[in-house]
Amino acid sequence: MFDTKSRRNFMKILGASSAALAVDSCISGNESIDQDKVLLSELTRKEVRDWFGSGDLKAAIIPTGSTEQHNEHMALSMDTEASMVISQLTALKLFPKVIVTPPVSFGICPFFMKRRGTITIREEIFSGLVYDICCSMKTHGINAILIVNGHGGNSRALRKNTAQFSEELGIPVEAYSYWSSIPRDRRLEFTETGSVPGHADELETSFAMAAFPEKLRQVSYNEDEIYSWEPDQKDLDRVGYFDARWFSKEFDKSSFEESKLATAEKGERVISHAVDWMAEKLTTMMG
Ligand SMILES: [Zn+2]
Repeated sequence: MFDTKSRRNFMKILGASSAALAVDSCISGNESIDQDKVLLSELTRKEVRDWFGSGDLKAAIIPTGSTEQHNEHMALSMDTEASMVISQLTALKLFPKVIVTPPVSFGICPFFMKRRGTITIREEIFSGLVYDICCSMKTHGINAILIVNGHGGNSRALRKNTAQFSEELGIPVEAYSYWSSIPRDRRLEFTETGSVPGHADELETSFAMAAFPEKLRQVSYNEDEIYSWEPDQKDLDRVGYFDARWFSKEFDKSSFEESKLATAEKGERVISHAVDWMAEKLTTMMG
C-alpha cells in the first residue's frame, strides 16, 4: 500500500534550496547546509546568543500537534511531525530570520479517547502552555510569533486566544493550521476526495508518505479487533470524552479506505504549498 522507500530526498531538496539562498549569512559560518540550525533546541546557549544578538532574527514559530490515534496505519505523532516539518521548512525558507521552538506535542483530543494511546490535555492547559512559550520568546527579544498547527482539535483554542496573546505581549501573534493554506474551492486540486485535512485519510497519509514514510505501516483493517476494548465510562467522563458523528466507526473505516488514495507526490504538493503560504504570512507579520 505504501511506498516505503525514503522520501527524505524531497525534504532535503526543499530545505536546501531555501537554505542555500541564505548561505552568505549562515550563522555558523559553516557553508554546509544543516537543516537543524533553525531549531532552538538544537543550538547551544552561545549559538542562540549570537543569533538573537545579530539583529537577523525577527520571529519564532511554535509548532503545535497532538499525540493521538491516527487509524491503523499511522504513528500517533502524525500531527506533531507535520507541524514540525512545515515549521522547519518555513524557517529555512526565511533563514536567518526565523527560529522554531520545540513542538507542543500534546493537544486537545477528548473525542479520540476510546482509542488506546491518545493523550488529551485540557484547553486551558494547552492555551497556557502556548502562551508561556510565547512569553519566553518575547522575553528573549522575539517580536513576532507564528503558531503552526497540525491538529484540528487545537484550532478553536488557538483562534480564541491568539488575539489576546498578541495584545498582552504587544507583538503580532498569529496561528494557522497548515491545511488553511488550501481554500475550500481548491481542495480538489490537492486531493481526490476533497477531504482537507480529514483524519488519517488521503491528505495526512500523503503528507507522511512525502515527509516521514517510516511512520506508516502496511496493515489491514479488522473491525472486531479494533472495537474489542472500551475504557471505563467514569474515566471517559474525567477526560471530557464526547461522541461525534465525525469520529464514528463509519468515519474511521472510510478514512482507512481513503488513505489508499494517498501518494507521496500529493503530499509533496501539500507541503510545498503550505510552506509558501506560511512564509508569506510570516513575512507580512515581520513587516
Ligand atoms: Zn492528524
